[in-house]
Amino acid sequence: MYFIFELDIESSHTYLSGLIQAHAKNREMQVDVVQSAHHIHLVFNKDDESLEEFLVSLESVLPASLFLGKARHYFSDKKPTFTRISQSKLPLNIAPCPSCQKEMFDVSSKRYYYPFTACNHCGSQHPFFSKYPYTRANTSMKFFSPCQECSQESKTNFMRIDYPLISCIECGIGIRMVDKENEHMALNKGDYRKLFEVSGRAIASGKKVLMKTLHGYRLFYKPTSQMHLANTKLLMADANSLNEHLMLVSQEFNALMSIERPLLRVATRSDELKELFGSSALVKYPDEGMTMLLAREIINAGLQYIVYEECEADTEADYLVDFDIPLNHQKDTKIFINQDTKLFVSGERIVYPK
Ligand SMILES: [Zn+2]
Ligand SMILES: [Zn+2]
Repeated sequence: MYFIFELDIESSHTYLSGLIQAHAKNREMQVDVVQSAHHIHLVFNKDDESLEEFLVSLESVLPASLFLGKARHYFSDKKPTFTRISQSKLPLNIAPCPSCQKEMFDVSSKRYYYPFTACNHCGSQHPFFSKYPYTRANTSMKFFSPCQECSQESKTNFMRIDYPLISCIECGIGIRMVDKENEHMALNKGDYRKLFEVSGRAIASGKKVLMKTLHGYRLFYKPTSQMHLANTKLLMADANSLNEHLMLVSQEFNALMSIERPLLRVATRSDELKELFGSSALVKYPDEGMTMLLAREIINAGLQYIVYEECEADTEADYLVDFDIPLNHQKDTKIFINQDTKLFVSGERIVYPK
């Protein structure tokens, strides 16, 4: 007897089914994972004692996604067969998955506050990519050699088997913070953390921080009603404050928090946001490592949200947070949501390549 768990999916991207498969391998779980045209199917042996525990563990590693729909399960005497869609190795451009995020906030991990943490099934990979085939030699990570631990990991951690961009604080991209007088280079995990902590505090005290992110330079600051905010995006650092400040239907809430992290125009709710932005704002939940780590320190500095502008490397600011590696960028994706309809209106990220 077989137990089949099925998820609806409206995408030909396979990062979700790939992640499920890798997670199963890491846990030595016997399961067939197949992505067909509109579903991800998980076929288990019904009598497997670790089945329930595995499904619970899946909840903590599988991200929310714009493309995931309803889930169901059923039993079958015969092992069902499904037609698998083709799976190709493409450079993704989505947010870090829950497992990678966990590493970034785990002080014992070699990727504590390391903004370039990602795996085969998540993260901003496309900015590093220059040409096919998608191998390290064809990305800007070719300038860095993986340390011994990372090399070993790319053979043993099923989430990162042959992951082209594998790196950690030891062997990866160094970041630095520059103000009018000083330059601080982050060399160890304490420094990486400190750099984001200082940035968060500076923003809370009214300073502007220009940061190179995986989606281009962003100028981050705390908005005030004296400022002209028409060209800014509202960055909601604190997920717990979303419903306090914004009028969100559940589809909008889910879209904002999804691993694809689109930009979304949302109606404002709190008096403070109405005063700053009027009736609506263009909203983003942290979508890549640099912004995500900054958001954590924004919360620690006592703020729930800030704003950012997309800008150039030479934009005037009080602090600059920078790193030396060439990146290429895709336009952000804005979506419009109306009840059950999800409509992509503009942008390249998430949508291309496919
Ligand atoms: Zn990941
Ligand atoms: Zn390493």
